[in-house]
Amino acid sequence: MDDSVSYDDEQPAGTEVAPSLGLQLGDDLVASLNRHDFEILSSEDPEILRVKFDKSTRSFHSDIGIPVGESVRLLSQLENKTSALSDHFGFFSGKGYFELMVRLGLIARRGVFDPIALRSVARLSVGDDTCEHDSSNLLAIDSRKYPKLYHRQRFFDSDNPDSFSDLVTHVSDKSGTCIELSPQSPCGVLYGVPNYREGRPLQLGLSIKVSVENVGDVTGFVHRAYGLANSFMYELAVRNRLICEPISRASYEQVERSTLHDERIDEVRFPISKVASEVAELYSFAELANDNLPLAFLSFYQVLEYFFPQAVRRDLIRKVRRELSDPMFSLNSDTHLVRIIGVTEKAGRYSEADQISTLLESAVRVERLREFLQQPRNQTHFGKKGPISGVRAIVVGNQQDSLARQVSERVYQLRNRIVHAKDDPKFLEQKVLLPRSREAARLKPDVDLLRLLARDVITDSQV
Ligand SMILES: [Zn+2]
Repeated sequence: MDDSVSYDDEQPAGTEVAPSLGLQLGDDLVASLNRHDFEILSSEDPEILRVKFDKSTRSFHSDIGIPVGESVRLLSQLENKTSALSDHFGFFSGKGYFELMVRLGLIARRGVFDPIALRSVARLSVGDDTCEHDSSNLLAIDSRKYPKLYHRQRFFDSDNPDSFSDLVTHVSDKSGTCIELSPQSPCGVLYGVPNYREGRPLQLGLSIKVSVENVGDVTGFVHRAYGLANSFMYELAVRNRLICEPISRASYEQVERSTLHDERIDEVRFPISKVASEVAELYSFAELANDNLPLAFLSFYQVLEYFFPQAVRRDLIRKVRRELSDPMFSLNSDTHLVRIIGVTEKAGRYSEADQISTLLESAVRVERLREFLQQPRNQTHFGKKGPISGVRAIVVGNQQDSLARQVSERVYQLRNRIVHAKDDPKFLEQKVLLPRSREAARLKPDVDLLRLLARDVITDSQV
């Protein structure tokens, strides 16, 4: 890498790239950003260091913006060997610093950069908890220094000189480990959710920072720091009624749209479908739980569950009737009667997996299922190299197991991964699927499958 600055190809007409940009930032910083694979873009505002965000995101803001005034602190952070966290927005350094971007849960829907959220941490106080960091903080940006850049996000009281320290909650265990909840640091912004869009003010979020004296093995340190941050968030929730959550990268990654062709009819009719209210409610809840795919999955699953007893009963009746319709059947034969008893005895032994497969075998149209599974996206998703681990892959041409059987096994395994935490020895091999994990964000095709099954099962119950 040379020290030259790479500029955005698509800069708006009339914007001149300041030739001195590299100098303004300092060659060391430019070199360091390049070394860390960050691409510097030209910026309309000479006070904003604009960095390209390399993932395709679903974020309103498309770039990273950092006040140029933070250059020195940014460089000193980068020089400590920083790397992005893999699953969340944030980073760690080999020198014992860890930063995890968080949003406040109560108003999560209002976004990551909500000024009200930031203000609500100002009420927190700490005891007489002194540490070597003294009254300073772990590099949180004081946005008061840049009123022009952050003008939309005034989460401090500008008349009160102490208000910035109100935003910094810093605690220590007195052995050199410190935890802090405060506005992001310059490097935290760099590894954070995109916060800048040309022509708009900068946005600053909150983060939890962990700093330790003895780093030791870096992987171990990151694991420990993440654990500490989680314990801290747990106590904030329980003791301080402040709900923080880390922001998963997966939730910002571009997700493919549903491939179910949702044909839409505009003409409304008097309902012909007879649907139990419980079923209708679960169905609509599942449809609306877009932002929580495991929950959507479970709600569609509950729709299926509603029909288990009916499916099992139908299956038993069919089997008993078949025995009785055998031309050789005789009421005088004990063997024949025992055969019928055998069928009915099995009724109590249907496992949940059996119940799903009984339901799907009888109520779901195989052609619909095949058509769905053969769509290119679904072939990849449900295939052996699909993104969801610990569940059965589905092979459309499988000779041994019917499609309904394969699908039931997958659905049941996935349901268990969502429902059971791994402490249950019965499900030791099934790793719990956490709601904010990358796997959870990739569940869309499985949710689409469940929606298809639920609709078919409800339709079948009408006939
Ligand atoms: Zn400290």
